[in-house]
Amino acid sequence: MAGKIEIITGCMFSGKSTELLKRLKNSYNKYLLVKPKIDIRYDLSSVSTHSGKKESALVVGSVSEVFKNLNGVKIVGIDEAQFFTIKIVRDCIELKKLGFRVIIAGLNKDYLNREFNSVTSLIKIADETTKLYAVCNICAAPATRSHRLSKEKTKILLGHKNYYEPLCKKCYNNVR
Ligand SMILES: [Zn+2]
Repeated sequence: MAGKIEIITGCMFSGKSTELLKRLKNSYNKYLLVKPKIDIRYDLSSVSTHSGKKESALVVGSVSEVFKNLNGVKIVGIDEAQFFTIKIVRDCIELKKLGFRVIIAGLNKDYLNREFNSVTSLIKIADETTKLYAVCNICAAPATRSHRLSKEKTKILLGHKNYYEPLCKKCYNNVR
């Protein structure tokens, strides 16, 4: 099988994890799903989507850790890619070279509309990019921005409805 890198990106609540899980399930191949150590919402060892679906995941500090867990695996799924360092790019290229299909879900921008380096770099090397949209919480237009409701200054984004809302560009600029 020829290797391939697919990336699913968009703002929060755009359904990235749901799309990732759907592709893994629909492949009928053995897959390994990983997520970064930092994602602490809901629980530690599974990927939860906002629609409530759950799937067990290997929690890793770096994507490099997957290389010793690939027995029989054909597809590597990576959730919350924005929390990995830029080293993820090299690891994904290596996985592709080895013939793996790599499917990555990640936020393209943070709540201040700043790009996540790792995801921006992955988009550049991906064979296929899917951009998803949420629904604007104010006007229901397609949303591309993650607006933070809490004034807390922590850098870590917690994907929780109480802290963030999806907004379109126009509404986002109006509330900021
Ligand atoms: Zn709007």
